[in-house]
Amino acid sequence: MSRLAATVLVLLLFTVPVQAASTSGRPAKSLADTVVAVDVGHSLKRSGATSARGVPEYRFNLELARLVVAELHAAGLLRAFLLDEAGADIPPAGRATLANRKKADLLVSIHHDSVQPHYLATWPFEGRQRKYCDRFSGYSLFFSAKNPASAASIALGKSLGESLRSAGFTPTAHHAEPIPGEGRELIDPERGLYRYDGLAVLSRAKMPAVLVEAGVIVNRDEETSLTDPARRERMARAIAQGVANHAAAIRP
Ligand SMILES: [Zn+2]
Repeated sequence: MSRLAATVLVLLLFTVPVQAASTSGRPAKSLADTVVAVDVGHSLKRSGATSARGVPEYRFNLELARLVVAELHAAGLLRAFLLDEAGADIPPAGRATLANRKKADLLVSIHHDSVQPHYLATWPFEGRQRKYCDRFSGYSLFFSAKNPASAASIALGKSLGESLRSAGFTPTAHHAEPIPGEGRELIDPERGLYRYDGLAVLSRAKMPAVLVEAGVIVNRDEETSLTDPARRERMARAIAQGVANHAAAIRP
């Protein structure tokens, strides 16, 4: 390349404005302006699954979701917020409506996982019979093809999976088992991303949305590790990093 051509190229690189591209069709925003809604799965009243030691899923979800918001702020996503800090009993579709009303650019719903009832056995824990299943462990990610930004939801899900894998977490494939209550399409086994159109929190949201099952709380060993503060922090950071990487990829 001649010196002149090189100079022209350098000038072009620095003067031609880069087209703002956003998979949602809206103009891309800076990280600091990107609004991320973090949904705490379930509520105080309807607390979701019950862990092998009798702890309601909602408590796991709230702890992790709070850390995810803090890590999103640390990653520069200053407008990340908890969708329902008070634990009010908002149905899944209502959570999507709330995220739409708050003009969220991305939605991440935080849950902890269980298994189908026929896999559950009982064991005594602190004087009570509790249900458990040690057969499955790991995280799962879900998107809905009914979400109007489903392609961007897949991209967000892949980014989350990539980040979780890099942080040393392993996905579970048990939601793909062809049995009643499962049979979800595992579109990216490596990253643990499933399609699940029936999740209203995802399908009714107007923005890209992904549901995270952080781990299987009916698994006795995984429940113990899911309550470990260092591991929880590492997972929150990985989720936040996955969101931040996705947000950075779509900004101008
Ligand atoms: Zn749940």
